Amino acid sequence: MTSIVLKRVSKKFGTTSVISDLSLAIDPGEFTVFLGPSGCGKSTLLRMIAGLEDVTSGEIEIEGQRIDRAPPGERGVAMVFQNYALYPHMSVRENLSFGLKNIGMPKAQIDERVQAAARMLEMDALLERRPSQLSGGQRQRVAIGRAIVKEPRAFLFDEPLSNLDAALRSRTRVELSRLHQRMKATMIFVTHDQVEAMTMATRIVVMNQGRVEQVGTPLGIYRRPATRFVAGFIGSPA
Ligand code: ADP
Ligand code: MG
Repeated sequence: MTSIVLKRVSKKFGTTSVISDLSLAIDPGEFTVFLGPSGCGKSTLLRMIAGLEDVTSGEIEIEGQRIDRAPPGERGVAMVFQNYALYPHMSVRENLSFGLKNIGMPKAQIDERVQAAARMLEMDALLERRPSQLSGGQRQRVAIGRAIVKEPRAFLFDEPLSNLDAALRSRTRVELSRLHQRMKATMIFVTHDQVEAMTMATRIVVMNQGRVEQVGTPLGIYRRPATRFVAGFIGSPA
């Protein structure tokens, strides 16, 4: 299981500071939620870990190894996006296989990984369908499956539930928590939704304006918010 450490990470777009001198240790196997209002820098932080944005300054380590200058493909993390980003002309099986084919993995190994991911996500019966023949929730599972087949060191989720309706969102919350328990993987999940954070996280990082306000367990943060901002945002008395 994988630890991720951020050391004094900053990010500017032009002259606008979006992440300011942020330090954070993410422990192996935790389901860490970055929680904060829209625009506070959650996606930017996640994208810097994934290598989709450069850090302006500071360092990022995965399993003790500095990776903030490494190409995204060499970091061993897999990101799941809000909009799924599935290939519409490919079957579910092909969507799951595509990334592995591209890195030249032997077919037998690809098939094995696709089967394992399909079993884990209970979508064996969907493998020959196209994305257009799937529900929103099923598409979301394919997007997660595409991360699982990479066997990454850590999973990064950027608001993956925000396109789902309320019932499906709550079901998927439960599924993701179960998946985390089964895989015992390090997962970071970004959301502005307090309920998502409270129900799924083993650890919450409350963010505000590019800074960390508080890190703690859901219950710890709820009972003892460290700042007025956290109290207001979580909705418990300060
Ligand atoms: P969140 O995910 O918490 O909603 P973001 O990380 O997307 O926040 O954005 C944080 C801030 O950085 C916002 O003010 C946003 O407008 C700005 N921002 C994000 N990406 C870019 C970019 N590529 N260029 C300029 N500003 C950006
Ligand atoms: Mg975002």
